[in-house]
Amino acid sequence: MQNDLAEVLFTEDEIAARVAEIGRAITRDYACTADEGGIVLISVLRGAAIFMADLARKIELPVEMDYLAVSSYGNGAKSSGVVRILKDLTSEIEGRHVIVAEDILDSGLTLTYLLKNLSSRHPASLEVATLLRKKTPAQAKIDCKYLGFECPDDFIVGYGLDFAERYRNLPCIGILKPEIYQ
Ligand code: 5GP
Ligand code: MG
Ligand code: MG
Repeated sequence: MQNDLAEVLFTEDEIAARVAEIGRAITRDYACTADEGGIVLISVLRGAAIFMADLARKIELPVEMDYLAVSSYGNGAKSSGVVRILKDLTSEIEGRHVIVAEDILDSGLTLTYLLKNLSSRHPASLEVATLLRKKTPAQAKIDCKYLGFECPDDFIVGYGLDFAERYRNLPCIGILKPEIYQ
């Protein structure tokens, strides 16, 4: 699998260290929520599931985990620009402290839509933890309270991120060789 990468951007150890830092920051920032039931972590399936699973175990507070599925890239490498909820949350988030875990912020279209949708449910607070953010000039302005890494505007795979459902189980994050998706 790793032979299909043009470049490794972040190793397994670098990812683990960064995720642990984000977990510590969240633990510190949300300490006061411990008595109110802690945090609801929401992962956007399927890419962010691995990040959220690792992040949750680095947060030393009560954490509920819930999942949303939205349509985004299909099997291709280009954004369709169309966001649709395919699977909604199981929990009610009204009055809860919510953190949305995302794998990668590219155009920002998906998160812009999701944040609007989630805030209409009146959470006590709503923040974003994204593992990666692409350096894309046209990106929608989104406040990410927690950011793992900035990455180049290439097609990225590994640690949850797929191409046609492959490479999610790659332990590192890297740039997919263009000849594989072109
Ligand atoms: P956005 O709406 O910000 O353009 O991106 C939405 C989703 O598309 C991301 O959460 C991610 O699931 C997927 N995506 C965007 N860029 C990449 C990429 O470089 N690689 C992969 N595997 N998925 C991406
Ligand atoms: Mg995603
Ligand atoms: Mg995908």
